[in-house]
Amino acid sequence: MGSCYSKKTHRQLHNRYHASKAKTPKKLSQSFHSEPNIVILGAGAAGLACAMELKKQGFQHVRILEMSDRIGGRIRTMKFADNYIDVGAQWVNGKHGNVVYQMVKGLNLLDTSSWDAYVNVEWIRSNGQMMPRSMLVKLVKVMRSIVRNQHEDLIDCDGTYGEYLVEKFAEALSKPDMKHIDREWAVDFLRTFKKMEGSAVDTDMNAADYGSFRPCQGDGTLNWRDKGYKQFLRVLVDGNEMNEHGLLQGCIDLNSRVLKIDWDRIDGTIQITCENKNQYLADHVVITASLGVLKKNPRLFFPNLPLAKRKAINFMGFGHVCKIFAEFEEPFWKDDWTGFNAMWCADDLNQPQLEWLSDIYSIQPYAHQPRVLLGWAAGPNTEIIESIDSKLLTLGIMLMLRKFLPKMKVTQPKCVVTSHWSIDPAHMGSYSYPSMLTKSYNTGPDQLAQPVNVLAYEPTTPSYVSLLDIRPITVRPIILFAGEATSSDHYSTVHGAVETGIREARRLAGYYQKDL
Ligand SMILES: Cc1cc2nc3c(=O)[nH]c(=O)nc-3n(C[C@H](O)[C@H](O)[C@H](O)COP(=O)(O)OP(=O)(O)OC[C@H]3O[C@@H](n4cnc5c(N)ncnc54)[C@H](O)[C@@H]3O)c2cc1C
Repeated sequence: MGSCYSKKTHRQLHNRYHASKAKTPKKLSQSFHSEPNIVILGAGAAGLACAMELKKQGFQHVRILEMSDRIGGRIRTMKFADNYIDVGAQWVNGKHGNVVYQMVKGLNLLDTSSWDAYVNVEWIRSNGQMMPRSMLVKLVKVMRSIVRNQHEDLIDCDGTYGEYLVEKFAEALSKPDMKHIDREWAVDFLRTFKKMEGSAVDTDMNAADYGSFRPCQGDGTLNWRDKGYKQFLRVLVDGNEMNEHGLLQGCIDLNSRVLKIDWDRIDGTIQITCENKNQYLADHVVITASLGVLKKNPRLFFPNLPLAKRKAINFMGFGHVCKIFAEFEEPFWKDDWTGFNAMWCADDLNQPQLEWLSDIYSIQPYAHQPRVLLGWAAGPNTEIIESIDSKLLTLGIMLMLRKFLPKMKVTQPKCVVTSHWSIDPAHMGSYSYPSMLTKSYNTGPDQLAQPVNVLAYEPTTPSYVSLLDIRPITVRPIILFAGEATSSDHYSTVHGAVETGIREARRLAGYYQKDL
């Protein structure tokens, strides 16, 4: 293959990188050698897993370009109140077939939450009425049975997942043993359940493709004790508190937002240009930016990506989930209180000034944080919640708590903060899902995962063959795609992201098929 650097060139690039701190644009030069340069866009779970696997496979020249000033992407553990909070990913969802669980098993980092978001909490209307316990147990049982048995059913569905749930729920309610269930309660319950189960994308999530998601069996809410998901990042890169980048130390360029990937150059290299004016030449680039980022930045690639790839990017869905953390001077709730799921009454839903609040569907105490409540919001108003003025946000949260918990002495929060996944240019949303358009356009994670290939000479050709100029020609993966949205069965999760990073590293190893 003819588009790599000599060690000298690598050194020149390294020097250029350091020179870039003085903000001078640089010129690129190149020469040839047999070790490929691989650039990974993004230091989230997928990018880090990809880099680690590439290193393990013997690749020497691996560089991650990360636009933010930290690694982790949608894994973000922050100091807050008396301890840490996870602003993004929080739980390890299941044990069996879960690569995250497999990597940390035996390290004593995880704890069972023994917490059930449906039955261990109160279900309350915005007028303060609490759903009777016996009714709640029955309704949750019905829904559980629908969800447990849905996989085979969903494959043949034409509509949305929300429609599927409504249909099955109505069927169950029509049975004689459900006759006594109050219909109004049931409707309110279903509205909130759909939001929790489908992360508010139920209006658009296509049921058939949702059926291909494979939950990992076993405890679905394993938590990282009081240390947060950051623990996993340390395990992933073999790092520690003093060295967060671990074995990738020196391979990650933070504050390096990639603006342009020029992949149709005459010499077969890819030229990558960052906002900070640094430029890189690579033989392969692995894209791990979120689907939201790819949607919002169609000009990232020059020339444009092939049509099939653009279809996947445009027509797959990307959801919006927001977390709201409220810190109080003292908890106004009892130690054993587990929080509530919010069932907004029709009257409240119709008030414009409350519209954004009505996307908050659940409020719970945060584990290992005695003075913190966590609110979950999903839906069309997520961006408003994330950008709202903090005084207004605090007032809104107090109003909501007082409406739903009229018997408690709700105090004013000391501090309220939200996640910013939907408004942060590094993410532009929370996680992917199969939308109705995904189905209509017959696209999805498999199409997004396909690399963009170019014709090239066989990389492992012995030199005497090269001299005779009869080198075999092959198909070279030049732009590769990893990240949760490229997983067909574990999308929207950390384990899905990790799997895809490893998958793409192995694709490259397979391409070279030799010890590098
Ligand atoms: C609120 C919330 C809760 C969640 N809860 C869970 C959970 O409990 N369990 C679970 O398993 N999963 C959960 N997830 C999902 C999980 O966090 C993600 O699926 C996973 O972290 C995605 O990893 P990734 O590497 O694919 O993408 P990302 O983490 O988004 O990494 C992509 C990286 O690319 C960088 N980037 C983007 N554009 C550029 C550019 N132009 N130049 C350079 N760098 C760029 C970004 O800064 C980012 O660091 C949750 C997500 C959210 C938002």
